[in-house]
Amino acid sequence: MVLWTRLTGDSLGPRETVRWEVAADEKFQRIVARGEEVAEAAWAHSVHAEPLGLEPGRWYWYRFSALGEQSQVGRTRTAPAADAKASLRFVVASCQRYDVGHYAAWTHAAAENPDFVLFVGDYIYESASGTNAIRRHEGKVAKTLAEYRARYVTYKSDPLLQAAHRAAPWLLIWDDHEVANDYANLQSQDLDPDFAARRAAAYQAYWEHMPFPKSARPRGPDMRIVSRLDWGALARVHLVDDRQYRDVQACPKPGRGGSNTIPLAECPGLVDPKRSLLGFEQERWLAEGWDLARPWNLLGQQSLMTRFAWGDPAAGAAVYWNDAWDGYAASRNRLLGVVAERKVPGVVVLGGDVHANYVADLKPDFDDPRSPVVASEFCGTSITSLSLAQSRVDAARGFNPHVRFGRSDQRGYLSIDLDAKQMNVRLQTVDRPLDPASGITTTARFVVEAERAGPHDA
Ligand code: FE
Ligand code: CA
Repeated sequence: MVLWTRLTGDSLGPRETVRWEVAADEKFQRIVARGEEVAEAAWAHSVHAEPLGLEPGRWYWYRFSALGEQSQVGRTRTAPAADAKASLRFVVASCQRYDVGHYAAWTHAAAENPDFVLFVGDYIYESASGTNAIRRHEGKVAKTLAEYRARYVTYKSDPLLQAAHRAAPWLLIWDDHEVANDYANLQSQDLDPDFAARRAAAYQAYWEHMPFPKSARPRGPDMRIVSRLDWGALARVHLVDDRQYRDVQACPKPGRGGSNTIPLAECPGLVDPKRSLLGFEQERWLAEGWDLARPWNLLGQQSLMTRFAWGDPAAGAAVYWNDAWDGYAASRNRLLGVVAERKVPGVVVLGGDVHANYVADLKPDFDDPRSPVVASEFCGTSITSLSLAQSRVDAARGFNPHVRFGRSDQRGYLSIDLDAKQMNVRLQTVDRPLDPASGITTTARFVVEAERAGPHDA
């Protein structure tokens, strides 16, 4: 557990003491842990307190005090003990571009009383705002530490997002926009020779503003966000990083890095087994850490894993987007091959990045019609970020029979209820993305049985 806050103000010293308290009740009558942290100017006066000795499987309340002020109260919880029979409700969210929408989705996500929020990337966007922005990113494209910090200040000023953080613990991974659009490892799409310094600044600001432990504090351009969490005897959650360790994209546009959409015939690199999206070390970490005892293995990752052909494969014209798993098909086949071979139970892949809801069957070999369904995928739509036209998704659906649902025209989050037998998934979408008081609608429901991979209609 990491309790996060940050001091703000003009008269802060280089080191300020912050006290924290954890209580077993909302009114702080029974305080069960307390401590002090030093908030340093060098780390944006952020606080990352790590209380120990709490009981498993229950809610707690926490607050901070410093400089004669007291914070609001946040609520968080511990995971059930490793052998405890447990159920789980959580939400999956991503892509909350501030200047194109409001955060009503967060109000509804918090109201669902989730055990945790799983945020799979694009917490901020580094881009400058266009003239049609509904509220503004200050300044130009973020590149320096000061500019990335300012972007977090803007995002975290939103009261609906603040309330979602106070309501439940968050598990977080980043995607590209916490640094730069479509970056890969130490290469940016504009081939910036100083990209390592930019990544270091972006990772520092990310750590400063997110509830990561002190042990995760970045060193130069490196920060480890890869982790695992066991939820009682019910599920193991695996959180991976597909940005920092990947091979650069195959076949980018001439003179550039970053993404492209290309036919396989023109880009054998898309299926080159020597390339990896996670990096071979992380692939091994994941392969060795699947839980064969618990009924569920939930994989939190950044993007869409299933194969998605844009265009007509029969005409030999299928094109693939090289930035996500389709650009690293061998990496995907290896991952799902291990799942098939070891009969890993209840693998559900959860992602974001593409600003659309996709529900899909996952197979170790999408070219082989006899390849079995070994895992289920729910790629959740964005909180606010815009996507391509629904007509383009509809036109591609016929070429991707393993994709059971695809909607790019709605904003929202996934709400997931899990027990030992079943996963129930609701695709929650806001009625009016530009209205902070918007209502919410369940667009679709799916079920996954623990005993049988593949989502089906509820
Ligand atoms: Fe995004
Ligand atoms: Ca992204």
